[in-house]
Amino acid sequence: MSHPPAATSGAKSPAAPEAPNPGKASNFLRQIIEHDLAAGTYATRRWAGSPGDAAHQAAGPLDPARIRTRFPPEPNGYLHVGHAKSICLNFGLARDFGGVCHLRFDDTNPEKEDTEYVNSIIDAVRWLGFDWSQPGNDKPYQASDYFDFMYRAAESLIQAGHAYVDEQTPEQMRASRGDFGKPGVNSPFRSRTPPENLARFREMRDGLHADGSMVLRAKIDMASPNINLRDPAIYRIRRATHHNTGDTWCIYPMYTFAHPIEDALEQITHSICTLEFEDQRPFYDWLMERLIEAGLLASPPPKQYEFARLNLSYVVTSKRKLAQLVTEAKVNGWDDPRMPTIVGLRRRGYTPASLQLFAERIGVTKSDSWIDYSTLEGCLREDLDGSASRAMAVLDPIKLVLTNWDDVMGAGALDACSAPRHPHHPALGNREFVMGREVWIERSDFEETPPAGFFRLFPGNKVRLKYGHIIECAGALKDANGDITEVHATLIPDTKSGTPGSSSVKVKGVITWVGAHDGVAAEVRMYDRLFSDEQPDAGGKDFLESLNLHSLKIVPAIVEPSLAHALPDQKFQFERLGYFVADRIDHVAGAKAVFNLAVGLKDSWGK
Ligand code: ATP
Ligand code: MG
Repeated sequence: MSHPPAATSGAKSPAAPEAPNPGKASNFLRQIIEHDLAAGTYATRRWAGSPGDAAHQAAGPLDPARIRTRFPPEPNGYLHVGHAKSICLNFGLARDFGGVCHLRFDDTNPEKEDTEYVNSIIDAVRWLGFDWSQPGNDKPYQASDYFDFMYRAAESLIQAGHAYVDEQTPEQMRASRGDFGKPGVNSPFRSRTPPENLARFREMRDGLHADGSMVLRAKIDMASPNINLRDPAIYRIRRATHHNTGDTWCIYPMYTFAHPIEDALEQITHSICTLEFEDQRPFYDWLMERLIEAGLLASPPPKQYEFARLNLSYVVTSKRKLAQLVTEAKVNGWDDPRMPTIVGLRRRGYTPASLQLFAERIGVTKSDSWIDYSTLEGCLREDLDGSASRAMAVLDPIKLVLTNWDDVMGAGALDACSAPRHPHHPALGNREFVMGREVWIERSDFEETPPAGFFRLFPGNKVRLKYGHIIECAGALKDANGDITEVHATLIPDTKSGTPGSSSVKVKGVITWVGAHDGVAAEVRMYDRLFSDEQPDAGGKDFLESLNLHSLKIVPAIVEPSLAHALPDQKFQFERLGYFVADRIDHVAGAKAVFNLAVGLKDSWGK
């Protein structure tokens, strides 16, 4: 019945799903899954095609999915880069091991959830490149569909003497729970009989009692060293309209009770969560055992495993704090390109491949640590370097006049220039633009008195205008305040890039430029980190105190003509400047050019 251990099976077929994915770094979760597959831990598990109790699943065939994982967000906000890690992890493990990953909305808390968030989560998971649909079912699962079963499970616990209705006040309950050094004290309601408890619980369900007047508690051990086993509350009274079940219920299950049941009904094998749930694991296992004993849930049960959540330097990833940035207008909405939300990262120019690479690179561990923001940026740079078209843009433009142009090139002449879209992908073709008597250059490319090592424009120096001719700088004009208004240079004939004469004159500097004749005005949004503190909210710090007030600078720029027709979301490398993306919302091809800085060409924040 059990599979031979993969590691000893010698001649493995390359298609064997238990074969570790080549190129994927191993980690403790992969090892657990490899072990379970080799040992056949879940080999007898059945799947009736939909979530359900033991009887439902028993009627189904053996589960064709070798493992089942899940990504279970609460639909109470937009997903962030930490969720991206969890999505890539759970969907990635299922994909690599011949399994299925469920997208499940953990919507058992009636108050905070919203369909706006549900839709944004669906979009985010799809955009990241993952799919949860299965034959005959492309809807995500939702925990609230299991309220009937959860209620039945609660009654079953009561009948078996494993749960009781406690009518102590919340203060009394807190006091009698004890603490790390002090065992708890039994509630006076703990010794009620199952029939008494059942009657009381039904009254709770039927709305005969006020919110907060009583709760259903699991009956485990008030002296347990693990406080989570000191008779945790599993159902509470809460008169609130739920986005899925409306006013059907006035009692709702607690998360700790609901979550293991959701996993079990969906036949999850490996339930992967963040470290803060480690202390909940004994209750998870306890509940599974009780409900299997009662014949309600299929065996073997899912198992919970914990990994370290993502902490990213210069970033906050609490949904509550991100919501605060939005509601207090510190940023321009959830999709502001400075936000670590998936919609924000996307608008900033991040790609699914860059986020998948990031998740792969940081790996999974069992101890908390901080990942440097530059790791995330490095992944984007790596992805865009290979794929983004090149273009020239001038962000702080000053005019350069080629004073001998008319003599050398002919009055009013325009010189056609062309440049590859990508230096390593000639198949992508060329960009075309023209040079005339006047071009735009970066203000910082001219110095009247050059500092040591400056090889660009200063009086008497020669540089190449990239893809064009070599020029020699003559000087600059100034206004009444002494500010430079125009740089002057002469063109050196027969030195155009790509022509035989191009190497006849040696220069140390090459500068980028955009023609005054065909350049296009654009708005460029230069983003910087949203916080100046490496750990903005660590140790209870007020994260708003380190908000970087200069995280957005809007600069009027001039860009080469090919960029006017960029499509929203299209990415470019602006030569010498960095990677930019046409804004998904505000850029209109052919009408209004708006580009966001995605990431610089090299890490400028570190050392
Ligand atoms: P927040 O505290 O921001 O509200 P959460 O953990 O409450 O986050 P959920 O919607 O419950 O948000 O999370 C869904 C899944 O995403 C969970 O399985 C959780 O473990 C995972 N997750 C959330 N934040 C991170 C993170 N920073 N790193 C890795 N995984 C995370
Ligand atoms: Mg949560």
